[in-house]
Amino acid sequence: VVDLIDVTRSFTGPPEVQALKSINLRVEKQDYLSIVGPSGSGKSTMLNILGLLDRPSVGEYYLDGALTSLAGEAERAALRGGKIGFVFQAFHLMPHRSVLDNVLLATVYSGVPRADRERRARAALHRVHLEHRIDFLPGTLSGGERQRVAVARAVVASPQLLLADEPTGNLDATTSGEVMDLFEELNADGLTLIVITHDQAVADRAGRTISISDGRVSETT
Ligand code: ATP
Ligand code: MG
Repeated sequence: VVDLIDVTRSFTGPPEVQALKSINLRVEKQDYLSIVGPSGSGKSTMLNILGLLDRPSVGEYYLDGALTSLAGEAERAALRGGKIGFVFQAFHLMPHRSVLDNVLLATVYSGVPRADRERRARAALHRVHLEHRIDFLPGTLSGGERQRVAVARAVVASPQLLLADEPTGNLDATTSGEVMDLFEELNADGLTLIVITHDQAVADRAGRTISISDGRVSETT
């Protein structure tokens, strides 16, 4: 699915920072990869490139065999399309909208008729086991439930790749376990997962872990 070849990402300074240095990474369909590494090591930079939010300064990124690293912003947005879902540390839910609306609003630009979108939003909430919270406001949910709404929103367009940057950073051990259980279920259903985490317990749930330090992949388990 994902192929990074000698990818370097520099930020022109001053001071110039090489956030990623000659990264090579291959992720196959239905892989579950975790990425660990110290603060500032380049993890989010890598996830942004993988998610087509950013592009390499040097090197190639193939997504499903298509070279994306030369694509401009509009083209990357189109490639990203329904293919990639994102989950971040902060849930970024709209506080005055119901759980259902939060998921539904992610599908507004899909061109799919409203009734279909609503059916898909309900199915996504069912996948994250929140069918009983559909009419609630985010503020009335627990942290783990809120993150599961964010996961539902990320998968409502049926992406094949889910990218998560510190998805359990705001959660305690029990609720982060719930989110990890959910990731495992989604992975078993065929979703390819790449999860950045500081938490070794979270990293250990993945099938494979790579560790980044100072912009380089330093070890693979
Ligand atoms: P953390 O665990 O704290 O989130 P990280 O591993 O995600 O850290 P990155 O955010 O990828 O680290 O940053 C890697 C390096 O690149 C850091 O030195 C950072 O300051 C630099 N960097 C990241 N984004 C930019 C940017 N837009 N402009 C300049 N430098 C940047
Ligand atoms: Mg980061």
